[in-house]
Parts: sequence; structure tokens; C-alpha cells
Amino acid sequence: MHKGPVLVVGGGPAGASAAAAIAEAGLPVMLVEQRDQLGGAIHRQPAAGENHVWRPARHRRNWTELTARLRGSAERIEVRTQTVFLGVDGEGRFLFDDRRAGHVFAHRPRGAIIAVGAVETICPFPGWELPGVMTAGGAQVLLKETGRPPEGPILVAGSGPLLPALAAQLAKAGNPPVAVLERGRPWRAARALARLAASWAPMAEAAAYAATLAISRVPYRCGAVVTRAEPDGPGLKVGIRVGETQDTLRVRHLLIHDGIAPNRTGIPLPAPDAAVPVLLAGDGREALGADAALLDGRRAAMQMLARLGLAGTDASQVQRGLQRARGFQAALGQALHSEPVVPAPETVICRCEGRSCADLAALADDASPREIRLMGRFGLGACQGRFCGPMIAALRDRPLPAATPPRWPLRPVSVAALARLTDDETE
Ligand SMILES: Cc1cc2nc3c(=O)[nH]c(=O)nc-3n(C[C@H](O)[C@H](O)[C@H](O)COP(=O)(O)OP(=O)(O)OC[C@H]3O[C@@H](n4cnc5c(N)ncnc54)[C@H](O)[C@@H]3O)c2cc1C
Repeated sequence: MHKGPVLVVGGGPAGASAAAAIAEAGLPVMLVEQRDQLGGAIHRQPAAGENHVWRPARHRRNWTELTARLRGSAERIEVRTQTVFLGVDGEGRFLFDDRRAGHVFAHRPRGAIIAVGAVETICPFPGWELPGVMTAGGAQVLLKETGRPPEGPILVAGSGPLLPALAAQLAKAGNPPVAVLERGRPWRAARALARLAASWAPMAEAAAYAATLAISRVPYRCGAVVTRAEPDGPGLKVGIRVGETQDTLRVRHLLIHDGIAPNRTGIPLPAPDAAVPVLLAGDGREALGADAALLDGRRAAMQMLARLGLAGTDASQVQRGLQRARGFQAALGQALHSEPVVPAPETVICRCEGRSCADLAALADDASPREIRLMGRFGLGACQGRFCGPMIAALRDRPLPAATPPRWPLRPVSVAALARLTDDETE
């Protein structure tokens, strides 16, 4: 049998948890992360110095414990940061862009766990592509990396638990948003709220965010939808609808977010007959949140060990935890449910190629996903459909496929780095 390390792609909670569990079982691991530090979306580390961004104690504790486990098995885990997984080539070799060394290398692992997290989704409206509009997740990353909130009035809008979390972090960092606008109307979903209340850890976290917003006098308005954004001097004029009432807010930054979806663009999917077993883990498999990502990394590690004919630990406790997380996410989805808003024709869908809703509507009703890509030029830009794909799927009620089979490179790579391709095989 191939004796090389097990590959884990993604240094967030799922990937780190999988790497620790595999190393603890005695196998070598290569943990690849595109950023310069491990941490993923939730534990993103500051670019330099101290991290001033407030995070709930539970998440800090989880990450401290996980990094201690990684350190405890350090002799079996090779961590490669600033290394981007590019995909699998025609010969089944996994390809990576080592950005520190400036070259691409190929590697054939004995098994691979892909834990590349989620992408944010947004419900588009005219003007979402303007300077000053950013995704809430993108803004949170900046805040975590720099410790500084954006300057000037900020509006946070869309739907989901990230909105109050980010708003509270902005408030703690010294610039509370002018308002948080949630599209859903949770107070109308009493049953779903009752089911949520049974999960004390995330509810305690939500209560802490609510307390911070109350102290900072940040209004949390439900049933509120952003209808458009227009340039307004150095800032933005944002149209809002709450029920039948239209309103306008003038802000410097508009931070939008409508949930997350697994990041699957170009990712090799598990196939039972694959020469190298591939498993997905964490939000990249099923977006269930930070606590579940830790569990899911462990689940994937146990499954990988079993596939490799090693150890078969009882996974029932992990499965129960994942089932609970699934129930929580389902209740959250019901609590925050809102009717889809049909975007105006001029709304940009594909930011990379500047393609609008009208361009999408101009395609035949029965245009195949491939025709949407090739004739409509949707999903052909730098993001390769990672960002616009979910919007098109929602508007057309069918997915925009990534290139099939997944083509590499997943991310832009320099020709110079490709020309220095090395085979990094460990048999
Ligand atoms: C934008 C955003 C903000 C969030 N904020 C919160 C929050 O405030 N509170 C909360 O409880 N939950 C939050 N979540 C949810 C929570 O972060 C996730 O549930 C959890 O981090 C998922 O862990 P993961 O390991 O599956 O993915 P992630 O934590 O996303 O980790 C994936 C890792 O894979 C790396 N990666 C991706 N592609 C490649 C590649 N091609 N090559 C190499 N490495 C790659 C990424 O850099 C990243 O480090 C957020 C999620 C997102 C997307």
C-alpha cells in the first residue's frame, strides 16, 4: 500500500481536527492551507501582532485545544501554509501552488480529506457590486486580520446569524453599525424559535451578541430588505423596504450576507472506485457551523482510517453531534425564512464579467447549465462560478455546474510557478 502522508486540504476547524485525529492514530499528515496561518473562517488570525477582535470564549477555547493537539502530534504533521490546492491533474496527481517558494508541486497522497469551507451567498440587488459594498464575511476577515473596523457609518444587511455576530464585533471594535437589517421575521416562527432555544451554547452566543447590540444601541430590524444601492459622494445611498414602507439610509459601507453554501467549485468529489480515497469535511461538505466542523473533521478522519484499513473507532457520538447541528441549522433556516425577492433586470449577477439579470433572462428558458456558462458567459471569470453560481441556481432553479470533470487550476497560478513544477511524491 502507498505509504505517503494523508493529505488534508484546509486549515480551518474541520481540516485541523481531521489532521489531529489522523496523526494521533499514528499516520503522517500533510496539512495544506492557502493562507499564511491556520484558523479558517472563524479563527482567522491577525496579520501582525495581537488579535483585538472579540470572539465568544467557547470558540477561543475550542481553537486553543485544537492547536494544542496539533502541537502534540507535530512530528507527524507537516503543515504547509501559503500553499493553494489547485486540483487533480489527468494522472490523478494532486497539484499545489507553493506561493512561498513560487512553484507548483504534484503529490499523490494515500488518501485526501478536503475541508475547504464555505462560500458566502447573497441575494443580489442593483448596486451590490459598487465600491463600498462588501460581503459581511469579507468585512469580518478584514476586521480579524487588522483589528480595525471600517471607518464611517456601516449598514449590515441580509439574513443569517453572521449579521448580529459581525455587528457585535464591529461594536466591540469601536464602530457599531447604524443598523442590522434581517430579511426574515423570526418572531413569526415560534416553533422554530422554541427548537433553537433548546441549543444552549449557540443561544448563549446569540444572547451575548444581542446584549452588545443593545448596549451599543444598534437596531436589529426584521423583515427589512435592501432594494438598491447608489453612489452618494464617497458613500452609498441605500434603499430599504420594510413591509410596505420604503426608506433610505446614507452610509459609507454596506455589508451584505445571505448565508453560506459548501465551497465545491472544482473540488474532486468522493468516488467509491477512486485510486486515492477522497472525503469532504466541514462546511465544504455540509454547512453546519463551527462546532459541527470540528466534529465533522473527526468523522472524516475516522472514515479515512477505516478506508485505509486502520482503526475503526465508534463514530456514533460524532454522528449524534452532527445530527443535532443539522436540526439546529434546519430550525434556524425556518426561523429566518423569507420569500425570495426577484431582482430588477439591471442587477449584476456575474461581477467578474459584468453579466446582469437581463442577460440571464435573454437566454432560452431551457438553456442548459453548460449553455448558461458558454453562451451567457456566466461563471467564466476569475471566481469560476464560485460566487455567482448560487445566485444563478436560485434564479433559474437549476445549478450552474463547475467545469465537469473539475478542471484545474482552481485558482489563478503564474506560468512561472507552473514551469517550475516538481513531483513531490512520497511512496
Ligand atoms: C465568511 C464566514 C464567516 C463566518 N463567521 C462565523 C462567525 O463569526 N461565528 C461562527 O460561529 N461561525 C462563523 N462562520 C461559520 C464557521 O466559520 C464555519 O462553520 C467553520 O469555520 C467551518 O470550518 P471549516 O474548517 O469547514 O471551514 P473554514 O473555517 O472556512 O476553513 C477552510 C480553510 O480552507 C482553506 N482553503 C480554501 N480553499 C483552499 C485551497 N484551494 N487550498 C488551500 N486551502 C484552502 C481556507 O483558507 C480556510 O482556512 C463563518 C463562515 C464564513 C464562510
